[in-house]
This record gives sequence, structure tokens and C-alpha cells, in this order.
Amino acid sequence: MSRSKSVLTQLLQLLPHWRQQMYFKASLTALSHAMEDQVLAGSDQPLVIASFQRERFYRQEAQRYRRIAQKSSQVYVLAAPETDFKNCSDVYETIAFEPTDSLTQEWHLIVIGLNYASCLICQERTGTTKEENSSAMDNSRRFEGIWTFDRQVTQQAAHILLQRIQGYRPELKSKIQQARQTYLPSEVLAQNVDQFQSEVSDNRNWDTFNNNPDPFVQRLVTYLQASQYKLIKANHSLAIKEHKERLINSVTTAIRRSLNPDEILQVAVQKLGEGLGVSRCLVYRCQETDATAIIQHEFINAGISSIQGQTWPLKNNPLFKEVVALRDALTIDNAISDPRITKLLEQQNQSEDALQTLVKSCSILSWMLVPILYQGRLMGMLELHHCGPDPMLWKEEDVALVNAIATQIGVALIQAEAYANLQDLNEQLEALDRTRSNLVAITGHELRTPLSTIQVCLECLSTEPDMSPELRQVMLSAALQDAERMRKLVQDFLTLSQLESGRVQWNVEPLNLQECVELSLSNVRARHKDNPLPQIENLVTDELPLIQADGEWLVEVLAKLLDNACKFTSQEGKVTIQVSRSSPEHLEVTVADTGRGIEPKRLETVFDRFYQEEGALRRSAGGTGLGLAISRQIVHGWGGQIWAESLGKDHGSQFHFTVPIYFDQIPSQKERQKPSSPSLYPKKNRPKRSN
Ligand code: ADP
Repeated sequence: MSRSKSVLTQLLQLLPHWRQQMYFKASLTALSHAMEDQVLAGSDQPLVIASFQRERFYRQEAQRYRRIAQKSSQVYVLAAPETDFKNCSDVYETIAFEPTDSLTQEWHLIVIGLNYASCLICQERTGTTKEENSSAMDNSRRFEGIWTFDRQVTQQAAHILLQRIQGYRPELKSKIQQARQTYLPSEVLAQNVDQFQSEVSDNRNWDTFNNNPDPFVQRLVTYLQASQYKLIKANHSLAIKEHKERLINSVTTAIRRSLNPDEILQVAVQKLGEGLGVSRCLVYRCQETDATAIIQHEFINAGISSIQGQTWPLKNNPLFKEVVALRDALTIDNAISDPRITKLLEQQNQSEDALQTLVKSCSILSWMLVPILYQGRLMGMLELHHCGPDPMLWKEEDVALVNAIATQIGVALIQAEAYANLQDLNEQLEALDRTRSNLVAITGHELRTPLSTIQVCLECLSTEPDMSPELRQVMLSAALQDAERMRKLVQDFLTLSQLESGRVQWNVEPLNLQECVELSLSNVRARHKDNPLPQIENLVTDELPLIQADGEWLVEVLAKLLDNACKFTSQEGKVTIQVSRSSPEHLEVTVADTGRGIEPKRLETVFDRFYQEEGALRRSAGGTGLGLAISRQIVHGWGGQIWAESLGKDHGSQFHFTVPIYFDQIPSQKERQKPSSPSLYPKKNRPKRSN
């Protein structure tokens, strides 16, 4: 019995001139209920045949049919079983047809009484869209078929259905036979299709025949259908609105979950691309003045080529320019015929320009560009591509939706930026706090150490009157030495703090580097007049261009580097100072020694405050551990670089720093011979320094 012919088709073969009508599901429900109520209100024991597409539809009406069965012994209910519906003879007959039967596509109700006959034979319209099939839009399901009060047509339909019932339940043969005898006249039973048709043609005016229900009833049905249609339209626009809101919500929720700009953009393209079902969705960061952008985030539908990683033209892209000028979305329904693209070609008289190449290589047929703005600032661009075969006509609501999402992305990106800045700031503050604590601890320690020596020496001197003059002298010298170390430490510490705080007033002037080197060398020699020094070779010539720096601070850096070189090189070793031109704008000063060298992993650390290889407690060479930190601050002050090189322990060290060449005035040979002298004495607001 499976795949049986449609009842409607069978009936329409008998009624070839019959016009089918379209009915919404809600209208059919109303008509069916009206027909059933007619049975419940009457007393003429009619034949009732109801066929439901699924058991679940029947279950909603089961109670009603139990009441209908009290009115007649000839009630037949058909349905495709889902759970417990089966062939059964209870208060009425149930007929479970196979799920493959064409009856699953149909809706039938037949009532034949003495005074009243009506039939509803409809088939569900196939090819309904996904939207229409969803349960939210259940009421928009549509059926086509016949609803009539015509007794003869109703009897014919009953005849077809009774045959079907007997096919499924042969044991009901005698009951069905009885129904035929009672409700179907012998002409109908004996008639073949041709006879029936000719009789109907003979006796009827087709218009009257088709409109046979009472005109008032017919009008009611028309109103019912019209209001149903309006309802469906309203539902449809509500569904679109709901879909849009759901999409915006889901994109917003997803992008708000992250503070990572890359994640935000990827989630946004993915959700938007999926939600709108476009071929390709792109998002890239860009500013108005950018020449190009790299496509980093992309969503592509199946079968669409990826353009991730490609460089996207912006500067010579008229579409990008238009969006930037408009500060609004731009849509192109058909890129092949759009004048903005084709006109451009004509104007340029070129066979193909970059934009045309782009359209072809990315197979873009319909295009939407939406700027991502935040307070008028362009932060990026969202692009939707539709790659055919037919162009997509962008609707205003699509543009509004993408615009709304672009706004959300803009806000999310700003939040992510603010968060990143805050994190940076936090890290800086934490580092500053760590430095401050370290500094307090180290400074405390550095100051306490010489202070303890001084205290011990002075205590001994005051409590031991019998101390030998030699020992007394040793004690006094030790106390004085550590007092001097403390003074230096305080001085260096103040200098460093002032440099680090940026409160130093730089007195930049054109200087002769050779003179500065000589001055610092004589300072070093004076400081070490009592100790033997290694050999010092000065290779700095007077052929150098003038430099631009603060002379006093420059001499300080040179002196510190020379001081260290002498300190960490034995008498037998050698210290060399030389200058080269490291770039057109800079001279590079190198202080090299053959001394104890620096381990490669310490080459950076030596510039940290208080770094001393021996550690704070074992100082053999004296010093404060602040010299290189101060030098770095000074060199950075004029925008130079400072770094150390060494092949390791006992392989000597080289300290390099760069200093800018003076360019405002190219000095003549004469002028070079008479350079302005560096300012060698402390200026106002400058801490007193000594080494
Ligand atoms: P200090 O007052 O201790 O010299 P610096 O900041 O000038 O302080 O130097 C820090 C540390 O860097 C020194 O204690 C030493 O360990 C290392 N250092 C600096 N210059 C040299 C050099 N020319 N040779 C070897 N080590 C050096």
C-alpha cells in the first residue's frame, strides 16, 4: 500500500476542471473544526473520515473524535503512526497507514450526513522554504486542494478513501460495505471516472460548482485566509528582525568575551559570515592614510577561495576612498556592471586596473564595505563578498545589521586597546615599585657598610687611648676612605635620580670631541695620581667633525669609562680610546682595555644600578656600582647608544657609545681648529658631582 497515489490527484482526475485553492494551515484547522462541530451539533449519524498526516496531529484532536464517535458508528480516523497509533476498532476505527504513503502529505476530512455533506481534500505544498517549515512558522504551512459542500464530489472522495481503508484493514470489509450502501448512491459506486466526469460536466456550471459553498461562508473563508496571510507576513518580518537581533547579540556577546583584538576580529567575521550566509567576510585593521592592509581575518563558505594573508590595496582603491569620505557603508550589487568600477576603466583607458583584477581574482560579484569607526576615527573595515552565480541585492536591513556589528567591533577594539594600555601601565608601575623597593634596600645596605667601618674605627680610637700611632693612623685612614666612599655614593645616587627623573637641563652645544677626551684623561690621571695606571693610548685625532652634546656630561661619561678601564686593568695592561664615524649622523667613541673582561651574559647587566661583579660586599676596586647606570642615562639623553663588548674573563672589554655630529653649521677647517670649549663647571640646577 506504500507510495499509493495521492487522493487529491485521484479526485482531480475525476474533476479536471476543478480549480484548486490555496489554504493556510490555520484556515484548514478552522474549516475542519467547523465541519466537525457540524457533526457534533447534528443527529443524522453521518459517515466521518479524517486523515491526519502524523499521529501527533491526530492526538491533538483525539478527544473530539471520541465525542464525534458518540454521534455515529461510521467514523474512520487515519494517521501515520509515530508512537502507539495502530489499526484498531474501538469507539471508532483507526487506520495506521505506512509512513511512505502519499497520505502523509495530505489532509482529509469527509462528512456525509443526511442533510449535510462536505469534504476537504488537500495536499501540503512542497518546496516550502526552511523558514516556513520551522516550528515558529508552522502556521505559514500551505496546502492546496478542494474544500466543498458538494455532495457528489464528497461522495466520490469518500469512495476513494474507503477503498484505501479497506486496503489497510480488509477485516472491515462488511462495515465499509455498509457505509457504501448507506452514504454512497449506487451511481457513484458504479461510475467509472469518465461517466462521473460527463455527468458533472452536463449538470453543472463550473463557476457555480467551484463556488458551491454558501457565498457568506465563502466570504468568511476568504477573510480567514486574508487575515492569516497578514499574520504570516507580520510573522515573517518579525522573524527577520529576530534573526537580526539574535545575530547582533551573538556577535556582541562573542566579541565582548575577549580583550584580545585578534580574537575579537576573528570571532566577528566568523559569526557575521555564518549569520548572513555570504561567500566571504573579511575584516582588517586600517587607517585612512594606509596604502595597503593585510587580510588577517576571514570567513569563507565552502568552495570559496581564501585570500587570508593577501595585501589589500587601499591607497589607489576608489571604493576604500569613497567609504572613508562617506564615513558610511558602500554596497555594490553587481561588480561586473557597476559604473564605479566600469567607469574607472574607461577613464583610465586601461584594459584592466587593480580594482578590476581584485574583483576577478576574488570572484566578487556583490560587495559590501562597512567602515569600523570609533568617534569618527577609522579603525578598520568589514567587507562582505558574494561570489555568485547571481548578484545579491543588498537590502537596507543587511547594511544596517553590518553597520551595527561594525559599531560593536569598534567599541570592542577600543576596550581591548584601553585594556592593553592599562596592562602596560600596570606593568610599568609594578616594575617601578619593584625598583623603588630594591633601590631602598640596596641604598640602605650600600650606605650602612661604610658607616659601620667608620663607626668601628672611631669607637676604637675613642676607647683605646693606648693605641699605637701607626694603628691610629690606619684607623683614621680607613674611616676617611669609607667616608669618602659614602660621599661619592650619595653624590652618584643623587645624579642618577636626577637623570632618571628627567629633570636635567641639557646644555647642548657644538663640541670638539678630542678636547673632551683630553680633559677627561687629565681628570682620570689626577684622580689616580697615587696609583700606577696601565698604559693609556689616545687615538683620537683632530680630524673629527664637531659633535652636538652637553660637554660637561660628555666628559663625565668619558671619565667614568676611562676610570673603569684603568680600575679593571693591571699596570701591565693597556687602555685605548678611539673614535670612528659609525653613521653619517654619529661618531662612535670606544674605550677598550686589556683588563679582566666581562662575561658575555653580564654585558647588559653591568649597566644596572649597583651592579658590581664582586657583589656589594666584596669590593676590591672601589666604586659605587652606579657609574655605568649614570653613563647610560647621559648617552640616552642625547639620543645615543651605549654598549659593552668582551670576549669574556681576562679578555679585556670595550665600551662604545655614540654621539650625534653637529650638522647645523658645517665647520670650516679654521673653525675646527678653534672649537668652542665644553662647559666644564656645574651649571644652575645641576647636582654637584665628583668621581
Ligand atoms: P663601579 O663603580 O663599580 O665601577 P660601574 O657602574 O662603573 O660601577 O661598573 C659596574 C660594574 O661593571 C663594575 O663593578 C665591574 O664589575 C663592571 N665593569 C665596568 N667596567 C669594566 C671594565 N672596563 N672591565 C671589566 N669590568 C667592568
